[in-house]
Amino acid sequence: MNDLKLEYPYKKLSQVFYNDEKPIPLKNPKLISKNGEYLEEIGLDLSDEDLTKLLNGQLEIQNFTPYAGAYSGHQFGYFVPNLGDGRALNLGTLDGIHLQTKGLGVTKYSRNADGRAVLRSSIREYLMSEAMHGLGIPTTRAAAIIDSDTTVYREKTEKTAVVLRTSSSWVRFGTFEFARLQHKPELLKELADFVIVESYPHLINITNRYEELFFAIVDKNITLMALWQSVGFMHGVMNTDNMNIAGLTIDYGPFAFMEAFQKEYICNHSDHEGRYSFSNQPFIARWNLLVLAHSFKEIANHELLESYANRFIGRFKEEYFTIMGKKLGFEKTTFEDRELILELFDVLEICKIDYTVFFYYLSCQNYDGILMMAENFETIKIWLDDYLKRIEREKVSQEERITQMRQINPKYVLKNYMLQDVIEEAENGNYELLNDMLEIAKNPFGEHLKYEKYSKQTPKNLGGFICSCSS
Ligand code: AMP
Ligand code: MG
Repeated sequence: MNDLKLEYPYKKLSQVFYNDEKPIPLKNPKLISKNGEYLEEIGLDLSDEDLTKLLNGQLEIQNFTPYAGAYSGHQFGYFVPNLGDGRALNLGTLDGIHLQTKGLGVTKYSRNADGRAVLRSSIREYLMSEAMHGLGIPTTRAAAIIDSDTTVYREKTEKTAVVLRTSSSWVRFGTFEFARLQHKPELLKELADFVIVESYPHLINITNRYEELFFAIVDKNITLMALWQSVGFMHGVMNTDNMNIAGLTIDYGPFAFMEAFQKEYICNHSDHEGRYSFSNQPFIARWNLLVLAHSFKEIANHELLESYANRFIGRFKEEYFTIMGKKLGFEKTTFEDRELILELFDVLEICKIDYTVFFYYLSCQNYDGILMMAENFETIKIWLDDYLKRIEREKVSQEERITQMRQINPKYVLKNYMLQDVIEEAENGNYELLNDMLEIAKNPFGEHLKYEKYSKQTPKNLGGFICSCSS
């Protein structure tokens, strides 16, 4: 018996919210990467052998009673009442951090699916969680990954894997939709009080705490959207069941980082109408919050919630333009600066310029590099001249400005073609690139000399790799 002590605070909720499950282990599990620093940080101090067993649901732990959570959700705008953790298992909580595996077999909520996760999608989630954290964006985390000899059929036969992912909360907007569906306001109160204790403890004992909870969730999402848009991150499936109540990025599927800039870019192969396109993301976040407001109806003043959610876009713009101004080296972003930023988006799109590389080069004052990337360099040159005039008005020294810009403009983001390189290697049994990419993910502002090529614009033939949802 291991001396790991896991707790189950979620199970203090009524039974409708979860179901106890038995993990169905994979054959010949093999630990292919672990996030050592993070394991240390959360105090999960296990040998590699025991860590492998934990991920495969086979570690003997006292009182081990893993469970899957129930939730509903709006998928592509349509309500689906019975979702839930169809392949995620909550192993238990360590000092407030919920340990969760993805891919240990079917649960009560699997519907007709197999409860497994393929290696390719597990690698994407593992690396991307850490990449987002490395960029300073609120996200669930990833602690380790195993692969195995168990296979499943997707579009072809594929190897399966398990990621150990963690979060301070796995409650989703869809969990509230599920609670509302039970038509018992006390269940909604129970869930809201749980979320307050777990994620918004400053609201305990506050009058109107459910309204305040909703406002706090809106605030977190405004910041999250401003951050996503600023780094060019596209989630791909912003269904309400993939929206985290604590304002974290969750459920990494067909996501992408912007390459050659395109405002309307759609990264999800199944998203035919572009509901989750890059420029739609903040609007969808607001739509999702309005669904959440609806779910709160029986416990809070709906009008107040709606009017708060409807201020989302204006407040989002404030935060977003402030961050974008900082990426350009402005101490304060004025309304005129907003014009310059909007022009920049047009110019980047016309000139097909790589989004991340542009800002990185700008923070290195490598203007020639920018011109060389541009398909239509006269257009970007006009914008750059305006920008250089604007930057002259900055009061801070050039040196200080450059330092600040380097701290906000990453040299590396994990573009899909880079993840494909890792996946191809791993599918052939080579895990070195996986582990190196983890380092790049965790330190996107640093130097990774061996991988200089990944800091350049995406090679033309490798750009725009689009994933499907089946994983
Ligand atoms: P996702 O699109 O990954 O957020 O998943 C949507 C819903 O489908 C969630 O309830 C998942 O648990 C469930 N799901 C996705 N893939 C599988 C699978 N292979 N086995 C069981 N459930 C799944
Ligand atoms: Mg999901």
